[in-house]
Amino acid sequence: MYQRIVLASRPSGAVEASNFRLEKAEVPALAEGQVLVRNHYLSLDPYMRGRMSDAKSYAAPQALGETMIGGTVGEVVESKNPKFAKGDWVVGMFGWSEMGVSDGTLLRKVDTTIIPASAYLGVVGMPGMTAWYGINKIIEPKAGETIVVSAASGAVGATVGQLAKLAGARAVGIAGGKEKCDYVVNELGFDACVDYRAGSLDAGLKAATPDGVDGIFENVGGACFDAALARTNAFARIALCGMAAGYSGEDIPIRNPRLLLTNRVKLQGFIVTEHLDLWPQGLAEVGKLVASGKMKYRESVSQGLASAPEAFMGLLQGKNFGKQLVKLI
Ligand code: NDP
Repeated sequence: MYQRIVLASRPSGAVEASNFRLEKAEVPALAEGQVLVRNHYLSLDPYMRGRMSDAKSYAAPQALGETMIGGTVGEVVESKNPKFAKGDWVVGMFGWSEMGVSDGTLLRKVDTTIIPASAYLGVVGMPGMTAWYGINKIIEPKAGETIVVSAASGAVGATVGQLAKLAGARAVGIAGGKEKCDYVVNELGFDACVDYRAGSLDAGLKAATPDGVDGIFENVGGACFDAALARTNAFARIALCGMAAGYSGEDIPIRNPRLLLTNRVKLQGFIVTEHLDLWPQGLAEVGKLVASGKMKYRESVSQGLASAPEAFMGLLQGKNFGKQLVKLI
């Protein structure tokens, strides 16, 4: 037997523990061509909040009563597929579940000898690829420019700022709390970080961006986005990646959309899974940086599948510090 968590009901507003249900299931017998994977880590990501809702979006809603969607990394424990052997480490989409069966489609073998397995769900996985895409394909920072990123200590934001620095730009983060801001500057090497919870976001960002802002990697929306937009220079680029501040409620308006026109801003929303052709290139580049110690990352790890709902609710409130994972084994 193994455990999994299903969507029991759709949240209205903030996610609650009662929206989830822990279930036991029987390990199925494998058919020819299938592999059985014991998941070691589950990735918790803000997009899951969107899937819990049945509002129209870029992806279909998560079905009620089905295993919650999610990325996983684990070990093949049995294989009837010639492409996979017992002991292989694989990244998959087995969801909030201790085990998963696959025909091999969408399973990616990973090398855990240099980079730890958990990192394939973060900096060398979907969030890292998100940062790489937004920086390289939308913002395209030039040396000397200033790039602002919100949720700067998180899985995506931390990678964004470090990639901007490597391109020779000035990296300015926005994050919730002094501890996160200190980490962003002292450990990740950003030039500055503004604590949006401290009550002086606009003034703080103005002081941190004396030459204005040439690129915004937006993860949050609302007040963070407004403050960054107010600092844009002519021909600034915005990679609109996430709007975490609005995931549990109403859409949040933009305070001064006129700036998009007067500053001739290029704004592009994107969904990283629509650019799978670029993943090998992006992940190879970020992987090299991680392996050589030039790219740093941090993880928040909760223990055991049953802890996933609490950890997920925390993620939506900024209680995580770095990539939020659940250790399943
Ligand atoms: P993070 O690890 O950054 O965690 C989410 C963070 O969002 C929290 O830690 C918190 O940081 C911040 N946050 C949450 N609520 C608020 C709020 N009300 N106001 C301000 N900040 C808030 O998650 P990820 O790095 O995985 O994701 C970052 C963003 O990127 C998300 O919006 C996500 O949806 C988006 N994303 C988009 C993808 C795409 O293809 N477009 C793919 C992957 C991610 P803090 O404490 O600093 O406020």
